[in-house]
Formats: sequence, structure tokens, C-alpha cells
Amino acid sequence: MDEEPISIQEAKDPGYQGAEVRLRGWIYRTRGSNKMLFMVIRDSTGIIQCVASRSDLGDDLFTVAKDLPVESSVIVIGNVNKDDRAPGGYEVHMNDVRTISKADRFPITKDQSEEFLRENRHLWIRSRKMNAILKVRSTVTGAIHEFFRKKGYHEFTPPIFTPNQAEGGSTLFEVKYYDRSIYLTQTWQLYAEAAIFSLEKIYDVSPTFRAERSKTSRHLSEFWMAEMEAAWIGYREAVQIAMDEIRFIIKKVLENNIGDLEILEVDPDGLVHILEKEWPVITYTEALGILNDKAGMDVQWGKDLRTVEEEELMKLFDTPVGVVEYPKEAMAFYKPVLEGADAPGPVAKCFDILAPEGYGEIVGGSERDTDIESLSMALEKEGESVESYDWYLDLRRYGSVQHSGYGLGVERLIAWICKLENIKDAIPFPRTMTRAYP
Ligand code: ATP
Ligand code: MG
Repeated sequence: MDEEPISIQEAKDPGYQGAEVRLRGWIYRTRGSNKMLFMVIRDSTGIIQCVASRSDLGDDLFTVAKDLPVESSVIVIGNVNKDDRAPGGYEVHMNDVRTISKADRFPITKDQSEEFLRENRHLWIRSRKMNAILKVRSTVTGAIHEFFRKKGYHEFTPPIFTPNQAEGGSTLFEVKYYDRSIYLTQTWQLYAEAAIFSLEKIYDVSPTFRAERSKTSRHLSEFWMAEMEAAWIGYREAVQIAMDEIRFIIKKVLENNIGDLEILEVDPDGLVHILEKEWPVITYTEALGILNDKAGMDVQWGKDLRTVEEEELMKLFDTPVGVVEYPKEAMAFYKPVLEGADAPGPVAKCFDILAPEGYGEIVGGSERDTDIESLSMALEKEGESVESYDWYLDLRRYGSVQHSGYGLGVERLIAWICKLENIKDAIPFPRTMTRAYP
């Protein structure tokens, strides 16, 4: 009877050295002469070099195997041995190669443009780079669930079709909904605020849609947000929870993905160093002072920080930084004013967390206004019909309490951890203004 296939990673265990193994996967690279065949195969766990001479396989099989194109699926059988000269440090001496499916000529060859790779994302997803990123991604989302569940939070799933905006009308995706129109969710927030009166502490990791009209390396039209909302807490506590969450995620990546970071050429010591340090929390007003003193940038008080300002600010830090208390004026309607703040104008009980190395905002959060009057006024100011938010205002009518929450951009965090040049590589099939294929 045939032995069970094992993974390439398992074949590298000391227990298998010298033993015959059966591996299945895809041809990653192949080269050969008339006498020798070198075939690197890959599976989800890694790559391994497989070799055979003409006499090992016999003339017929040797010829078939030598002509198999890259990405053909195969089963190979042979003896595995540690071999420092082989790529990956191990080698399988093959005595059999079975073709499962012979591939056509693979369109992805060396030195293709980013655009070509995105056009062929369905195939590029097999690359070692995408494989490594997707494994980190899986760790990140798993860690988010683990972090919140350990703290007694409940997973809460929001609707994706929503009748209201929460983050400004300009980025809403309007879709046909039977004989009327509706929007795709920009955030779970309004629904999360309803749910905390039942569950108190909730979180989610779910898809989010924003029609971002500017082309940047950090905006997607469809992205995943990990949000939390909790009753009885203020925005300053939420900042600490967000920082603890990010630390927890980084720890999990260091535990599970060292090999993937290596493939991505990310130095894990950089992440270890970040975990060892304190992460500062400064106010928006202090941030403007720092930008002025240390970067010679004169930003008018009252404006939201733009990408350039965030980048300049974060050149001065080597850990994530919490920036709190942005001007109320620039903020969404639900963020309450902080009374008695030491600032030139009204500021909101809100915060962002910015990542270093030019990655900018990864978390945005706030306390939520509990005052019906000021909420209604802020909605009117944004040109919204207050009646259509009546259900939301009900939450202030029946036992309202202080509560806060935030959203962490899953792809922004992955892009920073993996040092990706573009957020598009942090998600398997990116959707942007210019791309919705494949
Ligand atoms: P930005 O100013 O960068 O557009 P934002 O202030 O609109 O961000 P929030 O509404 O606070 O973002 O959303 C919470 C988090 O979701 C952000 O901190 C970010 O990590 C992520 N995020 C927001 N918009 C996008 C997007 N278009 N693509 C990917 N992630 C996003
Ligand atoms: Mg935005």
C-alpha cells in the first residue's frame, strides 16, 4: 500500500531523515540536463528540492518528468535528507514522479510588473510572497478573536446593508436593494452601539466598504475592519485596549510566522524592539507643536491630520503612537466634545493610533456622544435627515451610558507588520477605484 503523503514542512523533521516520503504539490522551479533532474516543489508549507538521475527514474519517466512545466501538480516519492547545498537545506532523492496535472505554460515569470501580478492575482496568490502574507493575515485575524474572547468580549455580527451613513456620505457605496437603494456598511458602529446595551463588550472582524476616490497606497474600497465597542468605558481606556490588542497581535505573529517574515525580508527584531518599548500617547494639539518644532511644518489648528502630516510626525517615533483629542469640527457627528480641554478650540473625545515607518493611521476610535441634542445638531450640520437616525437616537432614550469603541484596519496593520509597499498586497483580491478583477 502507498504511504500517506506528508507536508514539505514535515519532511524536514529530524524523524524523517533518510526515510522514504511521499510529497504532493506543485513544481516551483525545474531544471535539468540529459542526465539529472532538479525539481523544486512547493506546497502550502514550503519548498523542497527533489533530484533524480536518468537511471533513478528510467528513460521514459525521466523524459516525462523533465518536460513538466512549472505549476504542474505532482506526487513525488523518494528519500529525504538534510543537505546544506540544496535550497531550503533538504533534498529528496526521487525514485518516482507522478503527474497529477500537467500545467500550461505559466504566465508569471520573473520580473513582472505589480500591475501584471494584480491582473493575474488568481495565480500570483500561489507565490511565496502572497503565501507568507496570507499566513500572517490568518494569524492576525485569529489573534483578534483570541484577544477579545480572552477578555470576555462577545463576537457580534453587524448588517452589511445599511440605510444610514456613519463616516460621511462621500464614501458611501449605494447599491440596488429591490426597488430602492441602500448602502454597504462603512462601519458597524451604529449597530454596535445598539448591541452594547445587551452584550456590553463586543468585537467583530468584518468587511467594510468605502468609495475612496483618491488613489493611495493605503486605501481599499473593500477592507476588513476589526472593531470593538464597550459600555462603561471612556476613550482613554479604549486607547489602551487598542494598544494591548496590537501588541497581542504582534506577539502572535512572532510566535507563528517567523518563517513567513523571513520570506518577506522583515527583521523580527524590529517587532520585538517595538514590543519592549512604551508607546506614547499625545494630543492633537501637542502633535501640531511637534510638527512645528521638529519638522518645520505649520499646520493650521482645526484641520484633520493628512497623510503627509502623519508621515512627518511618525518619522520622529519608532513605535506606534496614540494621538488623542482632534478638533471636534473635523470629526464624525457621533464624537462628543471634551469639556475643559487645554486646546485653542473644541476637541472631541477621540483618538487615532498611527504606525511608524510611514504607515500612518491604523486605528480610529472615540467615545460616543450620549446627548440627543448635540447629536441631532451634528447630524443636521452634515446634511442628514435626523428622522432616519431615530432608531439610533433611541439608544440615548433608554438607559444611555458612557461607551467607546474603535476600528482597526486589518490590512493597514498587516501592511505595517509585513512592511508592504502597498495595502493591496495585504488582502487576497484587492478592490480599489480602478480594480475589481479578478
Ligand atoms: P483615513 O483618514 O486614513 O482614510 P479614516 O479616518 O477614514 O482613515 P476610520 O473611519 O477611523 O478611518 O476607520 C478605522 C480604521 O479603518 C482606520 O484607522 C484604518 O485603519 C482603516 N481604514 C479606513 N479606511 C480604509 C480604507 N479605505 N482602506 C483600508 N483601511 C481603511
Ligand atoms: Mg478615510
